[in-house]
Amino acid sequence: MTRPAETPSVPALDLKAQYRAIRDEVEPMILELMESQQFVLGANVAGLEEEVAAYCGASHAVGCASGTDALLLPLMAWGIGPGDEVITSPFTFFATAGVIWRLGARPVFVDIDPGSYNLDPSRLADAISPRTRAIIPVHLYGQAADMDPINAIAADRGLKVLEDAAQAIGAGYEGKRAGVLGHASAFSFYPSKNLGGFGDGGLITTEDAELASRMKRLRVHGMEPKYYHAEVGLNSRLDALQAAVLRIKLRHLDAWTAGRRALAESYRDLFEAAGLLGLVTLPTELPGRVHVYNQFVIRVDAELRDPLRARLSESQIGSEIYYPIPLHLQECFAPLGHKAGDFPASERAAGETIALPMYPELPTQAARRVVEAVAGFYRDRGLLPSRREHAA
Ligand SMILES: *Cc1c(COP(=O)(O)O)cnc(C)c1O
Repeated sequence: MTRPAETPSVPALDLKAQYRAIRDEVEPMILELMESQQFVLGANVAGLEEEVAAYCGASHAVGCASGTDALLLPLMAWGIGPGDEVITSPFTFFATAGVIWRLGARPVFVDIDPGSYNLDPSRLADAISPRTRAIIPVHLYGQAADMDPINAIAADRGLKVLEDAAQAIGAGYEGKRAGVLGHASAFSFYPSKNLGGFGDGGLITTEDAELASRMKRLRVHGMEPKYYHAEVGLNSRLDALQAAVLRIKLRHLDAWTAGRRALAESYRDLFEAAGLLGLVTLPTELPGRVHVYNQFVIRVDAELRDPLRARLSESQIGSEIYYPIPLHLQECFAPLGHKAGDFPASERAAGETIALPMYPELPTQAARRVVEAVAGFYRDRGLLPSRREHAA
């Protein structure tokens, strides 16, 4: 007899904890929505667009079916296609480069800065060619990429900048929020993101009114007015149910972000108190940024990464690898002709990083258990003095 998979006692993510806290707000709304039988786009989507735009300080927002489509729609609206190149990071979720490829354009990778895991602007100029049309910096794990130098180079070369802010709603950069740091910004409402729906969803913010209205047309098959199609678009509408849930959740987002940041601080204190700072590299929060910790990612020696993960799992502690294979080494991108060694900082990060449990409801006591398990792992290998030696 197979037993159902056990939930680890400290899961990497616990969406049920969040749901319990908002159930009383969500349930009546869902009943109301069912009575209305208004399921696609409509007033809730328009309301969400307005509220997320205001939250980011942006002028326009366009809801769509996923974070992936939120990356795809601006590129489509800019007419990016075969013969064009778009620059991005190889150390990101697949969608960032997948959308470039789907349009027949070529993803051109630029390696990351190993401290922030984000695109290294000092390598950008070398990657630009006469075919380059756009740059997609990714705010990985919830910390904004180094946008000022990226925007300066883009302005100089006449390139579009599309923020991949899927993991970074609310992230701060020099007093502004993700969503206004490029020409357009893509957000995801996938359930594991900081603002997650009850299914898929996405949204684009922009200051460009013309771009916003073009994307609103593209998300309904390029249709305007009804049944007239001047161009071919997608079916990428946001469900009213998702919008209604997200509007409720948006009211809690700042408190949840504060919870994530407090948990990150607890982890820092605990790792330091355990004497682990020489063995484990913690995430950096760069000056001028507000990190929103979609993930709390630590870095260890490559040969210890998988054994440490196994040890966490034995201790009933969830963890994840974001991401084990950098995009230039993905099989589907073999036609790009890359090989191991092309983007060494991304390859090293793929082999050395572990995401620890991170969600606003995670109790400090659980964070303590996580850090104790990491300390136990290093003690057993003789890499960390035992508690007694330490005290002596
Ligand atoms: C989640 C994510 C996406 C894609 O969002 P979906 O809503 O899953 O389509 C794109 N880029 C990054 C960096 C992501 O984390």
